[in-house]
Amino acid sequence: MPADFVFSRKPITIERGEDVYLYDDSGTEYLDMGASYACVPAGHGHPDVVGAAQSQLADLTFVQGSYPTSARDELYEKLSSVAPPGLDNVWLCNSGTEANEAALKFARSATGGTKFVATKRGFHGRTMGALSTTWKPKYRKPFEPLLADVEFVDYGDSEAIADAVDDETAAVILEPVQGEGGVNPSTTAFLEAAREATDDHGAALVFDEVQTGLGRTGTFWACEAAGVTPDVVTTAKGLANGLPMGATLCADWLAEDAGPHGSTFSGGPAVSAAAAATLDTIVGEDLPGNAAEVGDYLVDGLSDLPVRDVRGEGLLVGIEVGRGANRVLRDLAIQHQILALPAGRTVVRLLPPLTMTREHADEVVGALEATLEVTEA
Ligand code: PMP
Repeated sequence: MPADFVFSRKPITIERGEDVYLYDDSGTEYLDMGASYACVPAGHGHPDVVGAAQSQLADLTFVQGSYPTSARDELYEKLSSVAPPGLDNVWLCNSGTEANEAALKFARSATGGTKFVATKRGFHGRTMGALSTTWKPKYRKPFEPLLADVEFVDYGDSEAIADAVDDETAAVILEPVQGEGGVNPSTTAFLEAAREATDDHGAALVFDEVQTGLGRTGTFWACEAAGVTPDVVTTAKGLANGLPMGATLCADWLAEDAGPHGSTFSGGPAVSAAAAATLDTIVGEDLPGNAAEVGDYLVDGLSDLPVRDVRGEGLLVGIEVGRGANRVLRDLAIQHQILALPAGRTVVRLLPPLTMTREHADEVVGALEATLEVTEA
């Protein structure tokens, strides 16, 4: 049994990264169109983030969370300043699943409800609570029984969500654009229906923006574009541009009654410094604006290809291909040195660093065109 029995090992050993590029152990350059699971919105090795983390590492790598630090206080301030209106209470953790775990716990504690409503094809993480609200049987089955009181509704079905939420509901949790589930944007009407149903029954509305947030969809949060404000937004992945950090941003009524929760590494100084520098970069370099502009350009180019569908928002793009996505991905990597991700069996998913340019988009469209000629022939 190899030492890492969970990940499937790719046949490339990565040694170095710079902006949108990764380099393997023989010096070959790869265009990282998956941003390493969306974890480097500011690009690999952004000098401001690296500098902030290095200097904080030298001063104070870690201290227990009960002591305030200027690094964490600064991050609280920055996160509050970019949070959706009213969601300026910040819980820091180390991953997306933990950010959602906290959201579910805070919602139970504050509402007294036990039930959760989630969406078919939704993905919220792999710890037991978050996994209970994740839909795909492949992820759930071997670990059942999970939390019993979870109801899944069709993504986009406003009536179903209105019917599912009742006075026992602690929270509705959903992604404003489903990522792992195939890159499925929602309608504004669906988000509004979720808002109305949770308001009517005193439940919390949780938007999981672990994949969509931090500018990826063209606005800082995907929910901004829809004009629907939830009670909780969760974020992680790119928050510290590649160092592990997640956050749960919540409204006062949830923060006031959140119950006992904790985590040893919550908001450690080094990751906090990296996250503050990442937020500065995203805002200062207008990466949401670049995601909107280059995302539109990319989708335009992709729409001319012989594929079944191209969909997404900003730089979260799904391409529905006729044959298995993994074949296309393998060909892109080996023939064209472009790394991307699947989202299910038939969808190639692009979620690059938000620093990506139109030239990179041209390169990707050209490579996909050549690849599809081979794999779809
Ligand atoms: N929520 C969403 C929407 C995600 O895409 C992911 C990761 N793919 C998670 C939660 C879980 O994040 P993590 O792997 O950091 O726990």
